[in-house]
Amino acid sequence: IHPELEDYYTELHTRYLLSEKIGEGAFSNVYKAYDLKDSNYLAIKIIDKSNLNSDQINSILKEIAIMRQLNNSNIVKLFNYQNCLNSKYCFLFLEYVSGGEIFNQIIKFTYFSENLSRHILRQVAFAVKYLHDKDIVHRDIKPENLLFEPSKFIKRSINEQIISRRKSDDENKVDEGKFLINSGSGGIGIVKLADFGLSTHLKSSNSLAKTPCGTVGYTSPEQHMNIGYDKKVDMWALGCVLYTMVVGFPPFYSNNQDSNDITEKVMKGEYQFLKPWFDEISDGCKNLISNLLTVDPAKRYSIDQLLSDPWLNLGYENYNENF
Ligand code: ADP
Ligand code: MG
Repeated sequence: IHPELEDYYTELHTRYLLSEKIGEGAFSNVYKAYDLKDSNYLAIKIIDKSNLNSDQINSILKEIAIMRQLNNSNIVKLFNYQNCLNSKYCFLFLEYVSGGEIFNQIIKFTYFSENLSRHILRQVAFAVKYLHDKDIVHRDIKPENLLFEPSKFIKRSINEQIISRRKSDDENKVDEGKFLINSGSGGIGIVKLADFGLSTHLKSSNSLAKTPCGTVGYTSPEQHMNIGYDKKVDMWALGCVLYTMVVGFPPFYSNNQDSNDITEKVMKGEYQFLKPWFDEISDGCKNLISNLLTVDPAKRYSIDQLLSDPWLNLGYENYNENF
């Protein structure tokens, strides 16, 4: 047994068996694990608190407090947590998402078709809609934090396809639509947003902290605007994700890895639909990217505007998602 695992087992509840490491961060390791009580797999995010300051510990508590409120099929579920106050390790027991990161799929396929990009972006948008309606901002949306379950339709056996042909014509159209959408999907089915380490609840962080005596009616216009605008950081990130999916590289980067360089470009919204990569990309897709990568947050798409964008709905007009 690996010494690191042995160390974890001194605190981890006997209910869980750790298997392979599936993720690694500055202060956390994520393991695939088996739950002996419920007989299923889960992911355990183990945070080593020994070198964290109190702000960092508070941010873990915040991550938990936010995740506990969430129950959405496009968001990784937090089942439980352990030891997050006093021990060396804090354990987050999470829904296991077996496909891993969308990031690795972009690397594997170089870039995605517009159909596949739409299939993914729609689901992330559903997650963001759910969050923004609750005044929660994720603040760290990127391909590394988008996980997926492999698609069932890819593996559908010939038998199942014959069964589906016996269904009514209408049902079959929907099925075929699903099959077409998913057959170009590189096996990507349900997409789930992960990593709430930077997320925040706008109401608690803004109005309570800044409003004199917390009196409703005394808040300044800027405070109200800030509440609206903070959500727009996620919309910008979605623009970066869409750009990256369709061409395989991000809209803002610098050859010499100079982060000041990148910041300057981001501030000016200086990105291009580079040739030849964008030659084949539809105007609808580019239009959507422009509406998300708009510097002025007031003019940038909101989540509702994204959800009613024509490109995002192309092919889904008569289609009821039921994953
Ligand atoms: P960090 O805050 O260190 O970025 P994350 O919560 O993003 O931590 O987890 C790090 C990585 O671990 C993810 O990018 C992903 O590859 C993997 N991971 C995290 N949670 C899960 C999960 N529930 N199922 C599968 N893999 C996961
Ligand atoms: Mg992460």
